[in-house]
Formats: sequence, structure tokens, C-alpha cells
Amino acid sequence: MPKLVDIVLVGSGIISTSLAMLIHILEPKWVIHMYEKLPDVACESTNVWHNSGTGHAGYCELNYTPKLSNNSIDISNALKINKLFNLSIKFWSFLAKNNILNYHNVIHNIPHISFVIGDNNVNFLYKRFNKLIKYTSFNNMQYSDKFSELSKWIPLIMSGRSKLQKVAATKIINGTDINFSEITRQILTFLRKKSNFHLHLKHDVINIINKNYYWNIYVKNNNFNYTYMISAKHVFIGGGGATLLLLQKANIINKNNYASFPISSQFLLSTNYDIINQHWAKVYSTTINNYIPISTPHMDARIINGKKILLFGPFAMLSTKFLRYGSYLDWFKSIKINNIKLILKTGINNIHLIKYLLNQSLMSKSNKINLLRYYYPKVNPSDWNIIQAGQRVQIIKNNTNHDEQLVFGNEIVYSSNRSLAAVLGASPGASTSVSLVLQLLKIMFKKYNYYHSDWKNKLKLILSS
Ligand SMILES: Cc1cc2nc3c(=O)[nH]c(=O)nc-3n(C[C@H](O)[C@H](O)[C@H](O)COP(=O)(O)OP(=O)(O)OC[C@H]3O[C@@H](n4cnc5c(N)ncnc54)[C@H](O)[C@@H]3O)c2cc1C
Repeated sequence: MPKLVDIVLVGSGIISTSLAMLIHILEPKWVIHMYEKLPDVACESTNVWHNSGTGHAGYCELNYTPKLSNNSIDISNALKINKLFNLSIKFWSFLAKNNILNYHNVIHNIPHISFVIGDNNVNFLYKRFNKLIKYTSFNNMQYSDKFSELSKWIPLIMSGRSKLQKVAATKIINGTDINFSEITRQILTFLRKKSNFHLHLKHDVINIINKNYYWNIYVKNNNFNYTYMISAKHVFIGGGGATLLLLQKANIINKNNYASFPISSQFLLSTNYDIINQHWAKVYSTTINNYIPISTPHMDARIINGKKILLFGPFAMLSTKFLRYGSYLDWFKSIKINNIKLILKTGINNIHLIKYLLNQSLMSKSNKINLLRYYYPKVNPSDWNIIQAGQRVQIIKNNTNHDEQLVFGNEIVYSSNRSLAAVLGASPGASTSVSLVLQLLKIMFKKYNYYHSDWKNKLKLILSS
């Protein structure tokens, strides 16, 4: 048997990194190898410019509180996301207390605002507010439909708007803007000082083969252009959008059951500091196309590298790349004889979604600006530039009754002996990464009795932080 390392992690995004950090805390002597195909860490979806940086806590995202057919509002998802987000905050606070993370450098308080226009939407927002305000995490939520008050909350959005227009908003002042790549980078800076943690940049994991009690991982060293093998007791595939390609190679999923649907995104970035300085909130609104939750651009004030930034987006578009720096062949490589039926069926059943994404892909800058005008009536196109953001790869799966389903959440998949696991899917994202990683620990290590009282005590300490 070859010499085994304890765990190999594919990818240096926030999910792999958080898992590496927790494993190091729980088992400080374990040998951990992390492989990243790019020359630097956290350069894909986790990169600060590739996502919206919203600490999703259910405060402002209206798609977490859908209106049901009986006209009531289901707030359960908002409450759940809020709980999961708080786990992340506890973990990051623990890291800050232990001087691993500079909390105030990476997490900024910013109001989270839901803004709506029109009678129906205003009624919906008021009902939603009355339901959420009863819960402790939401009890400082404010509601207003007064033009003068809203002009103080969101001056840019209210300026140039008719006073006759029916508008309303809710506001929570303790929302957050988060630099997920800086969190990842700071954790990895700490781990890289440990002699038993090894980060390999420009190393592409090209194959993973099951050897029953361990895994052989084939890695291409792109610094020197050669391939080698490493063996590990455990493997986590945190390859972001490209995870499916490796899962298909590792042969642990039923290939009939999974396919992927990549969506790329762009933001409008403001370059005018007069405008940037007038807006300090993350403003979400109703879903423009009810079908996909990611189809609602929002207006996000952000702090990036100490500088105030204003973004509008993301605009979702059709793509065949699984990663921002991936290949246009990615999606084609994931099509196998086994899953082609599933892909075709999903395509036919979701033709309106494909048309919608195609429309978005063909949207000119001036059409994007028109959408922004809904939020910001006085927008001047020359103040805004288009920038490319990250890829979001949704899962297509066959349910047990063989109905195809396009999944907008994420799903952990794992080998039958639980020694290899991966995360497929895209949302709700980095904000809830810690709960995802806790689930991964439970799945991957319970069987081997690692998930014992010592781990439980350590985890309790971290999460009571
Ligand atoms: C437009 C957009 C907006 C978003 N907004 C938010 C938001 O506001 N709030 C939020 O919480 N989340 C948001 N998200 C989601 C969030 O960014 C992601 O969920 C999160 O960053 C995913 O992290 P990850 O570690 O899974 O993947 P990634 O950050 O994509 O990392 C995967 C890594 O694996 C590497 N890799 C892949 N294949 C291999 C291989 N074979 N060998 C070696 N390395 C490999 C890649 O190079 C990459 O570095 C957004 C995403 C997008 C695209």
C-alpha cells in the first residue's frame, strides 16, 4: 500500500478552505494536501469581484419568502438561512479571536434593504415584514412606505422618482458585506505555516481512482508540466463548478442521475464616486422573472480593499464554461451517453428558462442600464462599466421517480464508504459555507468513529464563539 496522506482537498475556494481549517482544528496532526489549478487561491466564485458579497441572512432576499397560492407568505427558508448564516459568523468570530482572521477587514456591516414598487408588491412586503418581525433575528427590521423616510434610507434610488409611485422598503441595519476571498486567503495564510498542511498552486487534479480503502489522485503539475499520483484516505472535491467532471471520473455517482447547467454572470460597476458615495445599502427587489431566483439583479454597495464600490447585478447568461477561467468545452465534456436523455428532457421542460438566459446573454449594455433604471431612475450610462463575474453551475438530477429536476440549491454527494465527498450546485453560497462543511464532517467521518466526543466538544467551543 502506498504512503497515505489523511485528506486531499481539490480547489482552494471557501468550501475546501473552511473544511481544511476545521479538520486542522479537530485533528492538528493530520496531513492535508490542497490542490489548486490556478496560480493563486480563491480566484473563482469565491473571488471578491466574482460574487455579490452579500452575507445571506434572509433579511432582504425576497425569493427566500415566496408567496404561496393561498396568498400567505412562507418565511421558513429565510429563518433557515438566517440560522445557517449565524453558524458562519460564529466560526469566523472564533477564527478572529484566535488571530487567524482580521474580522473587521473582511466583514462589514451594511443595511440590507428590500425595495418594491406597486400595490401588490407593497402589500406583499408589508405582510412579510409583519411575519418576520416576530422572530428575534429580525426584530429590528423597519418598514416604511413614506417617500421622505425612504429618501433617507436610499437617496439614489428615490431621487428622480415620482412621489405618486407606490413604493415601500424594509431595512435591517446589521446586514453584512463580506469579502469571501479575503477570508479564504487569511485562513490559508495561517494553515500554510503548518508543516503538515501543503498547498499546491498550478496543480490540476485530473483523475481520482478508488482503491477500496484509499484513493489515488492524479495531479498535473502545471509549473513543470508533469503528472504524478498521491494516495489519500479521504478526498473532498471542492472544485466549484467543475466538481461534476471529477465526480464522473471518480465513478461514485450514478452517471444517469446527474448533469450540470452552467450560468455565467456580469455586473455593472459604477465608476463615479459622487454616485458611489450616495448609496450605502444592499438593495434587493422582487424577482423579475419568477422562474429563477438568481434573475434579480440587486444594487450592492461594497467595501473592497478598503474602497467603497457600487455594483448592480448579477446578470445571468448562458454559458458552457464550468469555471470563470475554465474552458468552453467544460459542459460538452460532462455530457455522457448516460446523462444525455436527462439533459435533453430538462432542456425541453425548461425552454422558457433557456430563452430567458439567451435573452439576457444578448442584452446590450443599454438594456442592462434600462434594468438599473428601475432602481435608479436618474442613471447615467457613462458612469457604469460591465465586468465579468463568476460561474454558477446548477445541478440537473433524476429524482427517484425518474422526473428530472433543475436544482437551485446545493447537494452533498459521497462515495458508499463515505471517504470521498463533493458539493454540487451553487446556492445559497459562501454565506452558509460553514453549515455545509459541518455536514461534510458528519458525512465523511462519522462512519470511522472520528466524529467522537473530542470533536464534538471542540466544535461546541467553536460554535459558541
Ligand atoms: C455572480 C455570483 C454572485 C454570488 N453572490 C453571492 C453572495 O452574494 N453571497 C454568497 O454567500 N454567495 C454568493 N455566490 C456564491 C459563492 O460565491 C459560491 O457559492 C462560493 O464562492 C463557492 O465556493 P467554492 O469553494 O465551492 O468554489 P470556488 O470558489 O469556485 O472554488 C473552486 C476552486 O476549485 C478549483 N478547481 C476546480 N477544478 C479543479 C481541479 N480539477 N484541480 C484543482 N483545482 C480545481 C478552481 O480553480 C477554484 O479555485 C455568488 C456566486 C456568483 C457566481
